[in-house]
Amino acid sequence: MYDALTARYTFACPHGEPSHVALSAFRRLERLPGAAHPAVYGVRFDCACGDEHPGLVSHDELDWAPLGGHAGSFVDLMTSRTGDAADELLHTAALHLKAGEWPWSFFCYPEGRPRPVFPSAFVAVAPGERWLGLAVRCPACSALSVNLVSRGHVDVPFANDARIGVVDHVFAEDALRSLEEFQAELHSSRFDERRLDLA
Ligand SMILES: [Zn+2]
Ligand SMILES: [Zn+2]
Repeated sequence: MYDALTARYTFACPHGEPSHVALSAFRRLERLPGAAHPAVYGVRFDCACGDEHPGLVSHDELDWAPLGGHAGSFVDLMTSRTGDAADELLHTAALHLKAGEWPWSFFCYPEGRPRPVFPSAFVAVAPGERWLGLAVRCPACSALSVNLVSRGHVDVPFANDARIGVVDHVFAEDALRSLEEFQAELHSSRFDERRLDLA
């Protein structure tokens, strides 16, 4: 249900055709209690029909599929041979990792440092014209930080923004209960510009 070549997840839309959405169209992500192997995440996403719908994504689909692990085969137009897109994409991902680049990163406000992260640590996304508000639960200290990032930073693995905005306080758990509350928080918050170099 994730297509690595278009970087889109496919979900059912109750109003018609299946919806193909990028990670940045997710509005909320929450690990569901119960199922642990694999863990399952309940998400809410903005659909092309104009509504927000619920969907389910496995941990694997969320964190590994964007790196190309499930890409399947493709036809190489130069040789007319069928190739394995997963091999190619994973090879590219391995080269990035060897160079010390991480597929996703964010700036942890309480720790005052950038950290590598996977999409399963994303908690909420607030859409904006130029920037998205991205709430991330830090895998190291568990605090909730909010960064202002580009769409590509969220949707494209290894396309980390060099500079991002960081809200200068720790978010309370209930500040992100609804998209409206999250956006109101963003509008009343101050941002510091930070560099995201992990090296
Ligand atoms: Zn829809
Ligand atoms: Zn942290």
